[in-house]
Formats: sequence, C-alpha cells, structure tokens
Amino acid sequence: MKLGFALLVCLLPLRLSAGSADRIQSVTDELRARLDILESVQATLVEHNPLVMSVETLSQRSGPFVIAIDQAFARTLSDDELKAAIAHELGHVWIYTHYPYVQSERFANDIAMRVVSRSLLGPVYEKVWKRTGMRGNLVEFLGLEAGPLGQ
Ligand SMILES: [Zn+2]
Repeated sequence: MKLGFALLVCLLPLRLSAGSADRIQSVTDELRARLDILESVQATLVEHNPLVMSVETLSQRSGPFVIAIDQAFARTLSDDELKAAIAHELGHVWIYTHYPYVQSERFANDIAMRVVSRSLLGPVYEKVWKRTGMRGNLVEFLGLEAGPLGQ
C-alpha cells in the first residue's frame, strides 16, 4: 500500500511533463532532424482540435509548419505514443516538402516508421478513433505487419 503511494507520487510529475509544450517541441525538433526535414516545425498544444492532431503550413512549402495537438488528447498518450503521433504529422510535412507531394495516411506512416516503431502507431490510431468517433483501417494505414520471412 505504502509502495503504491510512493510510486504514484513519483510517476505523477513524469506524466504531467510528458504532455508539456516544451517536451512536445523538443520531441518534434529531434524527430524533424532525424527525418531530414529542413523547414521549421512548431508544435503547439491547443484547447480543442476536432481532428485531435493536425499540421498546417503558414507559407506553402517553405513553412514554417505548425502541428496542433488537442491538449486533452495529448494527455491520453504515453511518451512513446506522443513521439509516434508527432512522427506521423512530420511524415505529412516530409511529403509536403518532397516531390511528388502525394499525401496519404499510409505514406505518412511509412515516413514515421523510419524513426518510430510500427507497434506504437496502432495504439495511437485506436486513441484517435476513440476520441473522434471515426474509424479507419489499420492495415490500410500501416501496411501488413512483417511476417517471419520479412515480407
Ligand atoms: Zn495523417
């Protein structure tokens, strides 16, 4: 009982900082560099985003790009899931800045999976769908899981 209480006290500040604006920006900066996106990308928490998460550009392909994350949604994500979600939005930025500029969920996830594991993107979609009431097809969005032969 005492142990449980001590753990809760220790974990609480971590949970709160996971969804903080500073943390979200530093994760974004790190992933942006790893994905070789040269344009500036700002990540902000917003009070309400009907899409829960989205990205837009302030000036076409030159950016800067702004990722807007619904703050209540951000709180439902673990550190790793938040990273995966941001990697997905950066996937859209990557496509937007690279010829032939063809946007799709699947392609955005292919880019994201250069820096985060596929197994994290599934749970993020589940949480998005739970919040928006819409549902998509995981296989369509992520592709089939690699089998034992690596196909
Ligand atoms: Zn998307």
